[in-house]
Amino acid sequence: MTDSDDAQPIYVTQPYLPPLEEFIPYLEQIWENRWLTNGGPFHQQFERALCEYLGVKHLALFTNGTLALVTALQALRITGEVITTPYSFVATAHSLLWNGIKPVFVDIDPNTLNLDPNKIEAAITPQTTAIMPVHCYGHPCDIDRIERIADNYGLKVIYDAAHAFGVQCNDGSVLNHGDLSVLSFHATKVFNTFEGGAIVCHDAKTKQRIDHLKNFGFVDEVTVVAPGINGKMSEFNAALGLLQLKNIDEALLKRKAIDARYRQALAGVTGIHCLLVEGEKVANYAYFPILVQSEYPLRRDELYQKLQDNGVKARRYFYPLISDFPMYRSLPSAAESNLPVSRRVSEQVICLPIYPDLSEQQVDYILSLIIG
Ligand SMILES: *Cc1c(COP(=O)(O)O)cnc(C)c1O
Repeated sequence: MTDSDDAQPIYVTQPYLPPLEEFIPYLEQIWENRWLTNGGPFHQQFERALCEYLGVKHLALFTNGTLALVTALQALRITGEVITTPYSFVATAHSLLWNGIKPVFVDIDPNTLNLDPNKIEAAITPQTTAIMPVHCYGHPCDIDRIERIADNYGLKVIYDAAHAFGVQCNDGSVLNHGDLSVLSFHATKVFNTFEGGAIVCHDAKTKQRIDHLKNFGFVDEVTVVAPGINGKMSEFNAALGLLQLKNIDEALLKRKAIDARYRQALAGVTGIHCLLVEGEKVANYAYFPILVQSEYPLRRDELYQKLQDNGVKARRYFYPLISDFPMYRSLPSAAESNLPVSRRVSEQVICLPIYPDLSEQQVDYILSLIIG
């Protein structure tokens, strides 16, 4: 791939899909069942299969990750102020506003780009009820320290785990930490059901409350216990998810090989910093972020433009910061002086394309634009 003018653009990701013919029998089954949503057979099977694959006890499927975040906050009756990161996708903080909760932004750790545990306590007030950290790019947060702080102050922890499908930490799935974890199965994520999401919880009672909340608050035909929402995953998405699960391990291995190829080639490039991977078993290679530092001959936006001009549609995740958007920027915690690390990183980051079908030639072409 040398003549980029003739070539198709290379996007930051390409949704992973099974062979279409393998999905047809699932569709035939749905047509036969005439059960399209409301906890149908594929929904039930997919919940069980995901629990097993991910190594978690309970999980409730959702129509997308954002409604799952909004519902997770409702399930735990979170109010007042919630401590969160400005370095994430905007849905993290939006879920708080949808619940009338005030986001309190805390800066990130420069190595993991996750909420800096050293800075959380200073942001706690009498109104604080919870912490909502993000396992950014699928790198686990400092779960032990966050848990200790939450326990000391009597706070709940809801992890936005939208990037963390399949991510392991020392004692198994990272999703077993915190009170709840929220997954996204959006088309752009490591594991997709076109649109979709889930809440992981630890006991049957909480799962039941979440199941009520995602179905308008219905407990039975005549009983409504909360102003719930319609967050139910359809049979179409659940069936696709079941099929996608069969191929996910292979897809993760392909991502791993691409990650390694980038990492090796960029190791010696002055001014390009690759973020850490904390060892083999933790990562899902969801993203390949690089930081373009001052020693690099081009500025971040110059390299970004060069990539764009040559057909490489890399993305600046996460720029701008959430705290820069109009509905957040007047919050005291959004102040420039409160978030220096987030600011610097958001001005240096580029996420390079990574997806299972990205070829070695394409990776080398992208690398040639950065190194050459
Ligand atoms: C994708 C994403 C979401 C939202 O998930 P949807 O399924 O698209 O609603 C939330 N948080 C983060 C960090 C995300 O990357």
